[in-house]
Amino acid sequence: MSMTRRELLHYFGVAGAGLVGPGCIGWTREEAIPVDSWHKSVCRFCGSGCETRVGLRGGKVVKVEGLQEGWNRGRLCIKGLLNREILYVSDRAQYPMVRKNGQLVRVSWDEALDAAAAGFREAIAQGGPDAVAYYGSGQLFTQESYTANKLFKGGIGTNNVDGNPRLCMASAAFGYKSVFGADEPSGCYDDIEHATTFFVIGANMAECHPVVWERVRDRIRTAPQTRVIVVDPRRTPTARDATLHLQIRPGTDVALLNAMSYELLRTQLVDRSFIDNFVTFRKGAADAPPLTLEDFQKFLEDYAPEKVADLCGLSSAEIREAARLWGISQAVTSFWTMGLNQQTHGVAANRMMMALHLLTGQIGRPGASPFSLTGQPNAGGGVRDTGTLSHALPAGRLVSKEKDRHEMEKLWGLPEGRISPNPGLSAVPMFEAMREGKVRATLVMGTNPARSLPNADRYRVGMEKAFLVVCDSIFPTDTAQLADVFLPAAMWAEKEGVFSQSERRYHLVEKLVEPPGEARSDLDILVAFGDRLGHGELLKARTPEAVWDEWRKISAGSTYDFTGITYARLKALPGLVWPCPSEDHPGTCHRYVPGKDPLAKKEGRIDFYARPDGRAIVYLSEQGPFREALTGDYPMILTTGRRLEHWHTATLTGRIPQLQGVDMDYLEMHPGDAAVMGVKEGDWVQVTSARGSVRLQAKPSMRVRPGVVFALMHSMKSLVNAATSDYVDPISAQPEYKMAAVRVERVKEGT
Ligand code: SF4
Repeated sequence: MSMTRRELLHYFGVAGAGLVGPGCIGWTREEAIPVDSWHKSVCRFCGSGCETRVGLRGGKVVKVEGLQEGWNRGRLCIKGLLNREILYVSDRAQYPMVRKNGQLVRVSWDEALDAAAAGFREAIAQGGPDAVAYYGSGQLFTQESYTANKLFKGGIGTNNVDGNPRLCMASAAFGYKSVFGADEPSGCYDDIEHATTFFVIGANMAECHPVVWERVRDRIRTAPQTRVIVVDPRRTPTARDATLHLQIRPGTDVALLNAMSYELLRTQLVDRSFIDNFVTFRKGAADAPPLTLEDFQKFLEDYAPEKVADLCGLSSAEIREAARLWGISQAVTSFWTMGLNQQTHGVAANRMMMALHLLTGQIGRPGASPFSLTGQPNAGGGVRDTGTLSHALPAGRLVSKEKDRHEMEKLWGLPEGRISPNPGLSAVPMFEAMREGKVRATLVMGTNPARSLPNADRYRVGMEKAFLVVCDSIFPTDTAQLADVFLPAAMWAEKEGVFSQSERRYHLVEKLVEPPGEARSDLDILVAFGDRLGHGELLKARTPEAVWDEWRKISAGSTYDFTGITYARLKALPGLVWPCPSEDHPGTCHRYVPGKDPLAKKEGRIDFYARPDGRAIVYLSEQGPFREALTGDYPMILTTGRRLEHWHTATLTGRIPQLQGVDMDYLEMHPGDAAVMGVKEGDWVQVTSARGSVRLQAKPSMRVRPGVVFALMHSMKSLVNAATSDYVDPISAQPEYKMAAVRVERVKEGT
């Protein structure tokens, strides 16, 4: 079925003709469907975390609407409206399977779990605990990621624990931790109503966080003096709302942000009192010798706007104007996501984004906040907070710190020394180790790395080689087809758990209906798997509420403290924002602000309590070179992104019949570039990088700069990630999806 966007929105009964078009927002579904009972829940797609009410009838979900009392004020985007449809797509996984004679065949749960455990035991016997790995997802509930982390790090004894959040927001996590001493944003969505300027960099919010963006649009509508600066190599729907759009050359964000810092200092539009009292300057690492503001100013001399304008593909006047608009603003909220994070300078770019706020004192006041957005529904609360990453341990602790390991060993009731001091493998090296035969068995839960990893064909070889256990709610996926054991998982309303979202708000998702066939919750699966590996004693908490209570206790006393977010409160309230250390605490909108954040004990304007000296760090951050030089063979830059109707690898949205006509397999290219190649709309082109190639249909468009081409990561027919770059940021290990050197050639046919 093929539908235009207008027809699609009509199908879903989206109110308001003016809402049709790019970046459109659904308010409620207007179908007259009888409902027996309503229940509070949360959208399971993007990290905006829209709150929903779910209508049941006859044991089925029949309606999903935005929750009026939620932060999203009853709004949902088209994906949110599809929360019902995804439960009932035809490819729901229903039965466990084991590969026999090359084919996945249906077996009992006992046989599948026994086979999974046997494969892991054999791998450990041959190569030790580091011969196995866990690759998880920001789509799992907090209890599930926490339990997987505990099983692998505390039980099996390997830190080879990572997941798809490494691919989308590791640079933000490392940025926050290195600047403030603690991960996660300091502000909240309520800042939107107080901001006078929005600075959006590397985020197409109108399509990827559309309900948050609609709240920004409300602000623009009610306060017309509000300014919006958008930095993006594409003229996205978000950029169309901008007062000033800087159509930057991909990968030059650090130079731009340095140039803005230079200009803010030159024009004295900085907050000198804030800098003197709450900021310190470093180069390289948090424990490097302190530097001065004057050192920073000297460093920035190489980044004067006229010196970097050509590199950034901007005029020096545009850079100066962006700095001026920021500098004269009463309250700046910045938003960013994958555009900033997915590059080999991702941590530096994040640090500089935070530096702009620190230099101008634009933090800790209503409307003033550096705010990275989360891509997945629970990458923050589920994976970052629980430390389900190869370098991390729960609640901000680190594998590399002996004290942190011993604390977790005590909390988990383990003997001292049980948690390995060896750093685990992050996403890309984990799949490389599978290729090399060093990791022999891997459990993949709730994600599709065979499609989502960069340079995907290379790492597919590793998945074919290793003993692969895949747990997912959809079958088949690209990854599930490679499994030796497949375990069917329940989906959002078929199981119970907690989701977080971009503003640190935890929500409860209750079990409302039964999963299809024999599918089970991921928590049940992890516990049953752990039992078979002999770690049942460690996994004593085995219901969602028991695991949540254990995790609450572990958060106590940390910078994440959410001891006060009890199950009873989660059931009664539309979510709570941490820190929230006691059951009578309402949650914290502005971290680090004495009187607002219960953990900020010092008096004064702000208390960066997670830093030993109470000062946040501005790093002297160099703009590194392009990781891939543009050459005669590969003269163009491929950048990738998303569109409103689809999500992630389209494993879910791609199966909704009404969405299947939404085009995903195209390449945006500048009309000038297309003309030089003799390429017209709809012609097939081959995009080739040093790693691989993909065929797409050309879409000449002024949205992109000359020399830059754009493809969607969702693409189901074409594997765009065959061509993307698997170079990673040296600090965060996040891959550089946003920039690959490619050539584009006209070809006769598609795939
Ligand atoms: Fe769901 Fe994100 Fe859309 Fe909200 S904005 S309805 S969380 S996909």
